Amino acid sequence: MALINEHFLKLQNSYLFSDIAKKVNSFKVTHPKDKIIRMGIGDVTQPLAPAVITAMHKAVDDMATTENFHGYGPEQGYSFLIDAIIKNDYTSRGVFLEPSEVFVSDGAKSDCGNIGDILRHDNSIGVLDPVYPVYIDSNVMSGRTGVLEDGKWSDVVYIPCTEENNFTPELPSRRVDILYLCYPNNPTGTTLTKDELKKWVNYALANDVLIMYDSAYEAYIQDPNIPHSIYEIKGAKKVAIEFRSFSKTAGFTGVRCGYTVVSKELNGFTLGGERVQLNKLWNRRQTTKFNGTSYVTQRGAEAIYTPEGKEQVKATINYYMTNARIMKEGLQACGLKMYGGENAPYLWVKTPKGLTSWKFFDKLLYEVNIVGTPGVGFGPSGEGYLRLTAFGDRDDTLEAMARLKKWLL
Ligand code: PLP
Repeated sequence: MALINEHFLKLQNSYLFSDIAKKVNSFKVTHPKDKIIRMGIGDVTQPLAPAVITAMHKAVDDMATTENFHGYGPEQGYSFLIDAIIKNDYTSRGVFLEPSEVFVSDGAKSDCGNIGDILRHDNSIGVLDPVYPVYIDSNVMSGRTGVLEDGKWSDVVYIPCTEENNFTPELPSRRVDILYLCYPNNPTGTTLTKDELKKWVNYALANDVLIMYDSAYEAYIQDPNIPHSIYEIKGAKKVAIEFRSFSKTAGFTGVRCGYTVVSKELNGFTLGGERVQLNKLWNRRQTTKFNGTSYVTQRGAEAIYTPEGKEQVKATINYYMTNARIMKEGLQACGLKMYGGENAPYLWVKTPKGLTSWKFFDKLLYEVNIVGTPGVGFGPSGEGYLRLTAFGDRDDTLEAMARLKKWLL
């Protein structure tokens, strides 16, 4: 008899996006002629950069020849990609990494979710609230979160990010062993300055806290004073793991590639207090459970670091950030309060007249046929907000703002 991991039974039945899909589908059945504009799910819409396509075609041709065929690759990633990552994403910002500190993967979701494999089940967890749900659910699965009471897990420390604290979270009042930070933030689209991030690194250094730093949206940062990597802060290599993704940077949501940095300066502890390099554990975990990202995909990812690739990727990010600006101006012109959207592709809209997130979601869907994501789906502090994404196409973005103006003005 196979006994199950009963922690899975604690997970809430329905995932936020499937609830939204159900509502949208029932709207479509009753309103078949209405054109819906989707600004909910954070998926990109623009095609891959031509440099990526060329590199992937060439890599496919490599696979057609005996000389250049690639079978199993290194589980940690090919050195051609790791070297390009280190040179372009880190050395250029004054951060020096060894190749063995970078682990290429099939995306940040897997890595954020799997990292818990190398950590004990009884570590305490801290998350920003609202939060990218993967951090919580993956910890529910490993039994770290306690029980769900009034929308909160009893063993999780929620650190509110709200209008009241200007989306600048305060240090947690309770002890946490592992802290998830995501900047630029999903869902609020807000960022931390270098000084604010320094506060967190210093707190982690002083209290032996492990920071899981998710910077999947770093490519959207426009302000030169906002850090792209937590390793830009002195001492961060001793306390932080960093997750990166090519999904939003270069449209790889369907191709699948990302990477995780686990510095060799970073240690965890045994119960007896012995220090152990987390890099070694993650390497062992990956070489056992992961067989590498495909050669074709990694050649595609490498191409975003070529001069043409950089320019093309930047043009697409500019396209989305222009959408974000159009949305910001449109929402503000309608008298709606919103945050984010300046260094991130997400806009965090305060619901008008104190409506709940779901009530505002329903009104937007039924009255102007726009789909957002209810903020409360990202955690209790998300109640009263709605997330809109700038990943849509330009005409849809303009039309959505025109509909809102007509509706609200
Ligand atoms: N981290 C954050 C904060 C995200 O919003 C997402 C995707 O939406 C991911 C990670 C997942 O990225 P990937 O596509 O690389 O798995």
